[in-house]
Amino acid sequence: MSADVLAMARQQLGIAAKYLDLDPGLHEVLSRPKRQLSVNFPVVMDNGEVQVFEGFRVQHNGTRGPTKGGIRYHHDVDLDETTALAMWMTWKCAVANLPYGGAKGGVRVDVKKLSIRELEKLTRRFATEINIVIGERGDIPAPDIGTNGRVMSWIMDTISMQAGYTTPGVVTGKPIELGGSEGRVEATGRGCVVAMEEAARAMGMNLQGAKIVVQGFGNVGSVAAKIAEDRGAVIVGVSDAQGGIYNPNGLPIHQLYAKCSGRDGHLSEYKDCETVSNQELLELPCDVLIPSAISQQLTKENADKVQARLIIEGANGPTTPEADDIFSDKGILVVPDILANAGGVIVSYFEWVQDLQNFFWNESEVNNKLDVHMRRSYADVESIMHQFKTNMRMAAMIIAVKRVSEATITRGIFP
Ligand code: NAD
Repeated sequence: MSADVLAMARQQLGIAAKYLDLDPGLHEVLSRPKRQLSVNFPVVMDNGEVQVFEGFRVQHNGTRGPTKGGIRYHHDVDLDETTALAMWMTWKCAVANLPYGGAKGGVRVDVKKLSIRELEKLTRRFATEINIVIGERGDIPAPDIGTNGRVMSWIMDTISMQAGYTTPGVVTGKPIELGGSEGRVEATGRGCVVAMEEAARAMGMNLQGAKIVVQGFGNVGSVAAKIAEDRGAVIVGVSDAQGGIYNPNGLPIHQLYAKCSGRDGHLSEYKDCETVSNQELLELPCDVLIPSAISQQLTKENADKVQARLIIEGANGPTTPEADDIFSDKGILVVPDILANAGGVIVSYFEWVQDLQNFFWNESEVNNKLDVHMRRSYADVESIMHQFKTNMRMAAMIIAVKRVSEATITRGIFP
């Protein structure tokens, strides 16, 4: 499975390289990670036993700047998957035109089985093990699946203790009181709505009263639903891992956000609706579908039944290549993950900039800068899509690969 993900990432690069007639040597550089660190480290568990964990930090490409990417705690984490995710981070940062390369990290662990004390010890030891490759000028981690602001605080504190002074810029996604940014929590969902507005403009779709279905009611999905409702859309279906709810006349999203956001199973307490499975949810009548949960949800089995005209990929990798082809044939516009959900890394970049200069912006300043950045990225991808007569995913890949390869050529190959 993880080898498949890496093969898929390399296949996407291969297609973009063909469009760009990329030099084979440069293609080879981009298809491999610059640095892969594997670590095995012990943690004394609460029962006194020693358990050894395996972790990774992979830096795919740092030509355009320090590398950036999340740290994942999950039982499926391995080196190939981490490498593929690092490569996608390189492209996402390049599409958003951030001065970053891509990285990813992770520990193979089931966090649900750890006590808070074990989680903290694991995090501090892992941070110490990867300290030889991370740093506020070199490689800046952030939260991902299984990690959060508290884990980032422990990493920041561990690196600061070892440096002898506080280094808030070593990670992003921190709580506000430790140098986190206003607007970071909502950034990915907010960016998805901006991408939706731009796509709707291009398609001539009026979002006032447009019907929207959102899969996943966590950080990305619930925020995207709330902001879309604020801007006049009607959210008819939402779901979490336990299943979905549907009302063709609209759901009270602000009320559901307050009670159910990030709290699996709570959506079912709302009664003025039909209940649907996650699969049925994806096939509901609507104008826009925002998959914001997990990968590989839109496949060759269900793509034909999707009724939306526009898909905004809040999640990473929710659409398989076969489903992509079906959507292209049906004229359904898919705004790809490396563009649609880039709001998170854009505001992580803002957080890092604020930390380095010790000068902080208010929420509306952050939101306005995010808005400008997302619309500019969308326009860049849209213009490449028309120029190369391809779909939006490949256009985003082309622009990213072009930016990274041009930076490599301009810098030259050392020595
Ligand atoms: P989250 O954990 O806050 O929320 C995930 C949601 O998906 C929850 O509501 C959960 O119940 C639901 N879910 C889990 N398994 C499901 C299943 N099998 N079917 C349907 N729903 C399911 O996570 P998040 O931060 O909102 O991230 C969601 C997606 O967005 C992930 O793919 C993540 O990689 C991607 N993403 C997140 C960010 C960010 O800043 N949070 C940035 C970029 C991309």
